[in-house]
Amino acid sequence: PLDAVAKVANLFGAKKAAEVVHAVDQVSLTIHSGEVIGLVGESGCGKSTLGRMAVGLHTLSSGTRLWKGTDLATVSVAQRRQQQLAMQMIFQDPYASLNPRMRIQDIVGEAPVAHGMIPPAQQKEYVAQLLQKVNLDPALARRFPHQFSGGQRARIGIARALAVNPELLVCDEAVAALDVSIQAQVLNLFIKLRDELNLTYLFISHDLGVVRHVSDRVVIMYLGRIVESSPTAELFARPNHPYTIALLASAPKLEVKKIDFYAVKGEIPSPLHPPSGCHFHPRCPHAMPRCIVEQPLLKEIAPSHFSACHLNDNVA
Ligand code: SF4
Ligand code: MG
Repeated sequence: PLDAVAKVANLFGAKKAAEVVHAVDQVSLTIHSGEVIGLVGESGCGKSTLGRMAVGLHTLSSGTRLWKGTDLATVSVAQRRQQQLAMQMIFQDPYASLNPRMRIQDIVGEAPVAHGMIPPAQQKEYVAQLLQKVNLDPALARRFPHQFSGGQRARIGIARALAVNPELLVCDEAVAALDVSIQAQVLNLFIKLRDELNLTYLFISHDLGVVRHVSDRVVIMYLGRIVESSPTAELFARPNHPYTIALLASAPKLEVKKIDFYAVKGEIPSPLHPPSGCHFHPRCPHAMPRCIVEQPLLKEIAPSHFSACHLNDNVA
């Protein structure tokens, strides 16, 4: 359904300047090398679709995917296959994506052998190293997925993604299915791996607490549009968009200053028929007549802090 909205993913943009450019009904997302971006929104807001578009699992109906400045539509098939390997996706439920009849050894070691990255004879040793990287005992490599806990399976999913030496990991609700204590361990593993392997993450989550823990920058989506994008500390200290403020209010565990906070009221409208003007207007306590007819565009309200709300037009 969200195909109707053109999504543009500009991965690893060259400059560290304005990271979000917004045209009518377009989303432009630039991810800089080494950065961790948290992409947040309620279910159905398009964040998973955007993540899948970024790694090429979902085709763009219009728009461009750039990888290090190169349009991925213009490169040869062989080059694209190479570049695809550099972008891996990690899913919410690794169990569903781990073949129950395969041993961990083969689940993790299959792709690097298939792509000729390592000779078959080296698979065992290679998998052992990967399992160590994600803090799993290499002696467990001959076991099957059902013999592991949820947290261990999450680590196996990460090891499998790392096996092809990716540069960008798109993690879609990667810790959502785990207990809170296990969540923290896996999030810390993500941070450790970023530093060790120079990884870049697009971290998709409905959970602001998760995103705050791992992200350099937070991007908030609502019904297929980016409504706010900001360095993480700035976002939590000075949230601007009424939708962001409402999201923060509905996350009571976050220790943020509760000034003028209110809960998001009403149902999320269908992404198929989003409201006119500002998509958020039916739920916004500050909605003005203008909001019903005119789409607010992202505007830089502080350094690297962008928000799309008409209320900012009164601010000098
Ligand atoms: Fe609310 Fe209007 Fe701002 Fe949309 S543009 S968030 S409706 S005040
Ligand atoms: Mg989703």
